[in-house]
Amino acid sequence: MSRNVLVLADVRDGKLRNVSLESLAAARKVAEGGSVTAAVFGSFAKDLVDPLAEHGADKVLVVTNHELDQYTTDGYFAAFKKVIEHINPDVIFTGHTAVGKDLSPRIAARLGLGLVSDVTRVELEEGRIVFTRPIYAGKAFVKKVFKEGTVFATLRPNNIEKGEADSGRKANVEELRVDVPADLLRTIVKDVVKKSTDGVDLSEARIIVSGGRGVKSADGFKPLEELASLLGGAVGASRGACDSGYCDYALQIGQTGKVVTPDLYIACGISGAIQHLAGMSNSKVIVAINKDPEAPIFQVADYGIVGDLFEVVPLLTEEFKKL
Ligand code: FAD
Repeated sequence: MSRNVLVLADVRDGKLRNVSLESLAAARKVAEGGSVTAAVFGSFAKDLVDPLAEHGADKVLVVTNHELDQYTTDGYFAAFKKVIEHINPDVIFTGHTAVGKDLSPRIAARLGLGLVSDVTRVELEEGRIVFTRPIYAGKAFVKKVFKEGTVFATLRPNNIEKGEADSGRKANVEELRVDVPADLLRTIVKDVVKKSTDGVDLSEARIIVSGGRGVKSADGFKPLEELASLLGGAVGASRGACDSGYCDYALQIGQTGKVVTPDLYIACGISGAIQHLAGMSNSKVIVAINKDPEAPIFQVADYGIVGDLFEVVPLLTEEFKKL
């Protein structure tokens, strides 16, 4: 059964986020001979056509209004509603990011679409699309199948393998005109002030070195930052570390922080409370460093090091430097 699939590209600072390419991989999988359209918003949209085509878009719909350079609920809603009415897709994918989380329920409710959020797997079984998503803070997974109608799915970053880029692949480009009157926008983004994640984006990082209350101070994060930077990764934190004022809440991972799925998660001085595990237990490989051998983090860790993080982390850094 061929399907008409639409992907909303997730863009930050004028650049495509990885999850956009992961969405295209999922779209190609379920299109089954149908067509994949990518929609991209903002005055820079035309610059992003090539990577979208190279990763599987047959058509790229560009909406170049400068009012869409920054995400606003009203602006994106107006533009995406028009895109959906124009394409009439069977399935829609976007990232389970701040944008996807805000936009998808509004679109689904207003247009009467099915919604499945925070999807970690997309498979085809007997011609149907099966969406897998975590429930109970990541302790179990549920599979969802929609019998009819258009489905809007948001994909958790780093879970679906993006396809290889094919530099020879080209897409049809169509410019869609959308009227975004100023009085429609109830919010205006005047400035974006970035916090602490100057380097690798935490939600898309392949490697995360995370610190808990065991780091004991803001300075205690320095060895973790050194290791993360050496490995090309990002620094994360438990709420214990954030609450203690050792780092910014932008780094918090867990139920009330970011949900991450890196290839490698190194938890340093983190006890492993259920609320922390909710944000990282699906990481591909978990290494825990804790001086308490009974710490619950060891129950989810693939590798555990019982020891003082201030001795172990610098030793790891020294060893990685030799590689
Ligand atoms: P602790 O539990 O105090 O653990 C510190 C660990 O460091 C201990 O295991 C100790 O053995 C170890 N340690 C100490 N010194 C060293 C050393 N030198 N070397 C090695 N190990 C050392 N938490 C989150 O993380 N994310 C969330 O999103 C989140 N959301 C929450 C939502 C709700 C509604 C509630 C109620 C709680 C939430 N929490 C969350 C808090 C959570 O319950 C824990 O309190 C928190 O995760 C504990 O942080 P921690 O592991 O850093 O600190």
